[in-house]
Amino acid sequence: MIELKNIEKLYKTDNGVITAVKDVNLTIQQGEIFGIIGYSGAGKSTLIRLLNGLEKPSNGTVVVNGQEISSISGNKLRAARQKISMIFQHFNLLWSRTVEENISFPLEIAGVKKEDRAKRVKELIDLVGLSGREKSFPSQLSGGQKQRVGIARALANNPEVLLCDEATSALDPETTDQILELLLDINKRLGLTIVLITHEMHVIRKICHRVAVMEAGQIVEQGEVLQVFQNPQAPITKNFVMQVSGKKEAKVSIEQILANYSTGKIVKLSFIGNKSEQPIISHLIKEFDVEVNIVHGSISQTAKGPLGTLIIQIDGTDSKVEEALKHLDSIDIQTEVIDRA
Ligand code: ADP
Repeated sequence: MIELKNIEKLYKTDNGVITAVKDVNLTIQQGEIFGIIGYSGAGKSTLIRLLNGLEKPSNGTVVVNGQEISSISGNKLRAARQKISMIFQHFNLLWSRTVEENISFPLEIAGVKKEDRAKRVKELIDLVGLSGREKSFPSQLSGGQKQRVGIARALANNPEVLLCDEATSALDPETTDQILELLLDINKRLGLTIVLITHEMHVIRKICHRVAVMEAGQIVEQGEVLQVFQNPQAPITKNFVMQVSGKKEAKVSIEQILANYSTGKIVKLSFIGNKSEQPIISHLIKEFDVEVNIVHGSISQTAKGPLGTLIIQIDGTDSKVEEALKHLDSIDIQTEVIDRA
């Protein structure tokens, strides 16, 4: 149904070339709910945008439903996109249009006749559970209702694939569950193939059949969701699994960490404020020629603001590792090397 072969996506920026996605090979079956999980900057958005031709790969091919999306453009691509629709974290609704006008919009663009549009809009409103809200404007709706409009609009032209870009990340846990259940229901009823990206393992656990874990542009692990939960292999996958396992298991024991990483130094970083871990780590890798793996991360609220703790494994020559740690100190990130017994 969806096949990505040897995908690489490079971006040229003022600071050089960024590899957003590399060496990605992926096959997604018809009717499957496939999740792609990774931290911010892992390359998920780039990957999902390659699936509907919003981005072209620098190398490799993307085939959706027998059509090579990566090599078509213009009208052909527009036509293909009607069958590959998308929902978004912030809904992307038309704020000056009512619920039914929002849902009708893609039908208008596709040239569907007025009376057929009205019939289809009614079906969609029923399908997503928005009866009674037809004449409301998006500003009068809750987050969950807005996403229901997004879903109805995405389904209007009977797509074969639905792409979900962090579709529940702006919603509270209860609403998240309701929207996930709706997606599951649509998948079962319509046999629709769903590809979603998320940074929340809960989302993967709840509705996905298979999952791919992304880190630094690559897929580091993929498989059946249950299997990945029972037996995660890559360190980053273990972290994601910890997100949703019980509190007791979520506490990482230092012994466990040391047992998993036999080389390099294990270092605990602490920082106050809203520093994002991703730029820090990518800077270390680039500037100091060291390898860094994120072992565990958490943020807790303190009187001084958020306190971030990150445990990393850092590997490289002694002098490079020392330089990297000095650099962290210089930007007010406390470092503590955890000794091996
Ligand atoms: P994610 O969705 O997992 O957060 P992205 O796909 O947005 O990851 O980003 C992957 C990497 O590519 C990041 O380093 C990001 O800064 C970079 N990137 C994404 N889009 C662009 C762009 N249009 N131009 C330059 N760099 C980009």
